[in-house]
Amino acid sequence: MNIQTAVQKAQLFLKEKNIKTPVLDSQILMSEAIKKEKEFIILNFDKEISNKSLEHFNKLINQRAKGEPIAYLVKKKYFWKYQFTVNKDVLIPRPDTEVLIEEVLKLTKNKDSLNLLDVGVGSGCILISILKDKKNFYGTGIDISKKSLDICKINGENLGVISRLKLFKSDIDNFHFHKYDLIVTNPPYIEKSKLKYLERDVIGFEPKQALDGGIEGITEISKVIIRSSELIKKNGFLILEIGFNQKKKVKKILENKGFYIKKIIKDLSNNDRCIISMKIK
Ligand code: GLN
Repeated sequence: MNIQTAVQKAQLFLKEKNIKTPVLDSQILMSEAIKKEKEFIILNFDKEISNKSLEHFNKLINQRAKGEPIAYLVKKKYFWKYQFTVNKDVLIPRPDTEVLIEEVLKLTKNKDSLNLLDVGVGSGCILISILKDKKNFYGTGIDISKKSLDICKINGENLGVISRLKLFKSDIDNFHFHKYDLIVTNPPYIEKSKLKYLERDVIGFEPKQALDGGIEGITEISKVIIRSSELIKKNGFLILEIGFNQKKKVKKILENKGFYIKKIIKDLSNNDRCIISMKIK
């Protein structure tokens, strides 16, 4: 069978299964199956593929048809300026989270050397992106998932920041290590009762413990704020990703814990997504 026939059959099948971008997905998975760039596929539609590659391709297409995210199937995701390794043990980096990076870089433009803590570091996409762009910064990442720390370590190594990155398996309640200049976090913040309404690709495949924010969605956010108020230096920054409807509640907790709200940033869909606060008391 040639590439074109295989890709076209796959597109129809994915479309039938309600996959939103069947053409793009089929091309990406073909490039994964035959280990060539996507451009190669478009330029070589009439090339025959081996039975082994076709088998691999069909397997990937069947997984995608069941909703498995492309990022998990190709084991990578681009975030900020970098390529991160991902698997089902980590949340897939979201474009909306890139606003956090932008803000941290703005806030620290004139800073030379800072100690950062990322709570729930996952794949490391936030912390590692900052370390890549700020060569004198040091980062600590904690996570309750040992498996996610393994992925984070791979990313730290691949992206050349491992010498400035420390990783610990820990819950923030049990972490008493240091004082930090800046704490950044994208904690689980989806209300437990809303989890079932997330897209199939998300709820069927991504780690629930990275999404489930308890009954009101702010269980983990509150915990992080309370502990951060002890782990952060005076005048240090806390940068939080929040759910679109959590601004009011989170602001209140921050103010109670001695933080001044500096800025609230909207994401690409114009939802409140990120709170920048400073520890003033
Ligand atoms: N933004 C993610 C989603 O909508 C949720 C991330 C989180 O809970 N931290 O799937």
